Amino acid sequence: MARRMIPLFYFLVSVVGLINVALASNDGVGKGVVGYDSYKVYRFYKNNGTGDLIKDMVLPLTDDFNVWTHNKNFIDIMIAKEINLENAKGIENYNYEVMIEDVYTAISETVPKKNENRNNNDINHQQESFDVGKINMDNFFFKEYRDLETIYVWLDLLKRSFPDLVNIETVGETFEGREMKAVHVSANNRTMNPNKKTVVITGGVHAREWVSISTACWVLYQLLARYGVYRKDTKYLNALDFLIIPVFNPDGYKYSWTTDRLWRKNRQNTYWPNCYGVDIDHSFDYNWVSNDNFPCSEDYSGEKPFEALEASSWNNYLNTTKGEYQIYGYIDLHSYSQEILYPYAYSCEAVPRDLENLIELSYGLGKAMRNKNGKKYQVLSACQDRGSDLTPGLGAGSALDYMYHHRAHWAFQLKLRDTGRHGFLLPSDQITPVGKETYAAIRYFCDFVLNPDL
Ligand SMILES: [Zn+2]
Repeated sequence: MARRMIPLFYFLVSVVGLINVALASNDGVGKGVVGYDSYKVYRFYKNNGTGDLIKDMVLPLTDDFNVWTHNKNFIDIMIAKEINLENAKGIENYNYEVMIEDVYTAISETVPKKNENRNNNDINHQQESFDVGKINMDNFFFKEYRDLETIYVWLDLLKRSFPDLVNIETVGETFEGREMKAVHVSANNRTMNPNKKTVVITGGVHAREWVSISTACWVLYQLLARYGVYRKDTKYLNALDFLIIPVFNPDGYKYSWTTDRLWRKNRQNTYWPNCYGVDIDHSFDYNWVSNDNFPCSEDYSGEKPFEALEASSWNNYLNTTKGEYQIYGYIDLHSYSQEILYPYAYSCEAVPRDLENLIELSYGLGKAMRNKNGKKYQVLSACQDRGSDLTPGLGAGSALDYMYHHRAHWAFQLKLRDTGRHGFLLPSDQITPVGKETYAAIRYFCDFVLNPDL
């Protein structure tokens, strides 16, 4: 135990310095940004509605809108405030409510607060008041969402603090030349893990889903900090390797900090000038179909499978660098909706090979999460969530299907908090509770994988 305490202490001290450096250089959200000061998010319930809500009702009023999420019960749409929905034809057929009154205010709740900004006096004050005995510094990093540069320096700190457990590897390079980093966590225990049983966790496939990134970091940190301290966590890391990619879409994530908080895709060129980005989660080569969308659309699939550089780099990395690793579990973190989704996404008619285990696992993950903080996570097939049962192709090319079909025994997509009150703009005070409930799910998952009866 003592062996672990020493590097942990230096790690915690270093985190303070890191955050200060990052904040000093951080452009933050604010410059050249896409403004969202005149938008609301509405939820339209489908029960009473007939026809196509967007085509029949929204488009005749405005083309200035953005669909946040949809499922069989409702659709959340961000629309400019000045649009008067009372004038919409057929609005009487829909029940609707305002979910977010002011998107701009909601955005401001997700960016680092004033007392953590570039003001040197504040930073000095923070350093003076630093006392490792009093402040739980391991939580300091998780007090706010962190930008890409800060996260990458933090990963290097983890490597220095836990050199026996951490390897930082390069998955590939993005369109804008950024490194896509994977953290390979391994206790290198050949006796307990001769087959290199591995659990893969990805965050940030969609840029605006910031809590998926903070949560991947949370899980990573718990695995390391608890190793050698807690019996169960030590057992997990002795018997399993973990591959964690906290920021699967570095260009998109960077862009969501500097320019457009609600950006979703990556940032590569398309055939259409001034339309950037491919939806990485529509780019994987398993049952890929073109979704016929204009390249400016948010879920543009590209013109061919693996067009998204991040998806093709991942495919290469996984099948060459990590070719011999046995992937037992894949968990792809997203937001929002509080859902646990199992394969397949592309079709509701395709029956997964071990549906029984997938469903048992899904409910187990959900129960572990609920037991932690009382938040309910709904279990459903990814195809239902994507709406592929109604519109084939909507769920094509997902990381979930690709991993389940090609590499992982069991694969899930977790849509984290919340259920729409804040949507993608989950305030930073929820980083820790979401991290805790997700780590509870990961522990359940490890128990399942390590069950000798399976
Ligand atoms: Zn997503």
